[in-house]
Amino acid sequence: MLVDLHTHTTASDGTLTPQQLLAAATTAGIDVLSITDHDSVAAYTQLPTATGLELVTGIEVSALWAGRSVHVVGLNVDVHALEDVVRRQTLARERRAERIVERLARRGLKVDLAGIRERAAGAAIGRPHIAAELVAQGIVRDVKTAFRKHLGPGKAGDIKTEWPDLDTAVGWLRAANGTAVIAHPLRYRLTRAGLARLAADFLAAGGQAVELVSGHAAEHEVAKIADLATGFGFRVSVGSDFHAPLAWRSLGVDSARLRRLKPVWDGW
Ligand code: AMP
Ligand code: MN
Ligand code: MN
Ligand code: MN
Repeated sequence: MLVDLHTHTTASDGTLTPQQLLAAATTAGIDVLSITDHDSVAAYTQLPTATGLELVTGIEVSALWAGRSVHVVGLNVDVHALEDVVRRQTLARERRAERIVERLARRGLKVDLAGIRERAAGAAIGRPHIAAELVAQGIVRDVKTAFRKHLGPGKAGDIKTEWPDLDTAVGWLRAANGTAVIAHPLRYRLTRAGLARLAADFLAAGGQAVELVSGHAAEHEVAKIADLATGFGFRVSVGSDFHAPLAWRSLGVDSARLRRLKPVWDGW
């Protein structure tokens, strides 16, 4: 079975519309799909009710934990119950975009908020939209450079204070009947002890699962998360974190990679 429980569309920073993503997933032979846009469930209002694959509702919430930004995926969630959450996060993203633009301006980098909004085209603003504007203005060569020099960890545009804390984010997802999943646990560059602290705090907050496979995870990485899941009693999810076709991450993860671990969909 091919499963993908972490994907993005134009409702956040992906390049395919929800319909295009659905078509691509169908072509790729995906059996179970979740669209997990950053702080948005708008994709679910743009989809046909009958699809050729099993569609699980989802969202990827930005949160703050121990001074870092972490992502919590909510799966099988009541999207209508998330209305207030999405409104709050959209405002947070709007405020954050304003602050990032101010900070960049202070460094002599003139990017226009209106241009960024246009790029987001109604989606909640993310750093990729700001990066694209920096490229369009000829300030940097490409998106990768925009993140490396101006938007990535520790840079001027790395503003995360607008995010809710981890407890709040998990609480929102649980209140909307969702399953809370730690997204791409290895992307936070935590030590083994740090990752265990995140897992413990997540569990205490009501978190239930962890992403075992995110994109092209190597077997030794999967083994690390499998240990974590077993140790904390987490169910496991798998996803590509797909943002665009022809990129490094392609759609779908073979469910055989879950081996004997408890899948996140157990109990849905
Ligand atoms: P934001 O949601 O505004 O915090 O932006 C985070 C998003 O930026 C991630 O979900 C990725 O899609 C994208 N991103 C993060 N780092 C990079 C990078 N180095 N190059 C390109 N895109 C990135
Ligand atoms: Mn993204
Ligand atoms: Mn993420
Ligand atoms: Mn993602």
